[in-house]
Amino acid sequence: AKWQKINLENRSKDELYEMEMTFNEMIDYLRDNFEKQEIFVSNASHELKTPIQIVKSYAQLLERRGMENPELLQESIEAIDSEADRMKKLVEQLLSLAKNRQAQEMNRVDLGELTEETVETFERAYARKINFQQNADDLMVYGNRDQLEQVIYILIENAIKYSNDKINVSASKLNDDVIIQVKDHGQGIHEDEQKRIFDRFYRVDKARSRETGGTGLGLAIAKVITEEHHGEVSVSSKVGEGSTFTLCLPYRE
Ligand code: ADP
Repeated sequence: AKWQKINLENRSKDELYEMEMTFNEMIDYLRDNFEKQEIFVSNASHELKTPIQIVKSYAQLLERRGMENPELLQESIEAIDSEADRMKKLVEQLLSLAKNRQAQEMNRVDLGELTEETVETFERAYARKINFQQNADDLMVYGNRDQLEQVIYILIENAIKYSNDKINVSASKLNDDVIIQVKDHGQGIHEDEQKRIFDRFYRVDKARSRETGGTGLGLAIAKVITEEHHGEVSVSSKVGEGSTFTLCLPYRE
């Protein structure tokens, strides 16, 4: 909404009352957003400080005892390397959250083809079979190709991270929507957590997510991008059985 200056002269009581309500709503809205922003910045700096602290402790340890202890040397180098990777990923993801607000190049995108390509990328990288099925010929949507690829990437990467069993990816059409589903047979997600996993930095199991190089930002990014494309991303899941993530975007002729 655009900010407008208002003139309070010659207003009726009713009009003033209505303005007061609007004004108070605006203040609530701004306060909520400001608080969310503060929480986000505080989480982000905490998440960045942790790997920096770990790298620093290993560097100090190496300085004191690294030369005479090859095992410690090896362990430290591995830890520093993986923490640096984490930091890199975190910074990239934070930038990606910020960038989404800017205008991006928009085109017609074949979501079926994009999904199949992403599946193949993962199969090569992880030497793992992922089942892909396309159930309709024409799966065009309108959007930014790189961002849409990022969403599909996040969903498949999570399926790989949080399950060891078979993964099924499908692309289909329902009414005027193109639907991509990523189904795993992993640990599943408890009902209470299903909404929260789309929040920034929320992780069901912090330790597990850390081990797999997670940041807790993937699904938040997927949600922002999808909503900017007038779509929806959702999950249905049962603990112990697995999860299905559904990406739904408007079909574009
Ligand atoms: P992360 O970097 O931790 O994977 P995400 O935002 O991508 O962050 O996911 C948030 C959390 O949601 C994860 O930490 C995990 O607990 C849960 N999650 C996401 N995808 C799955 C899945 N396919 N199966 C089980 N849990 C999942």
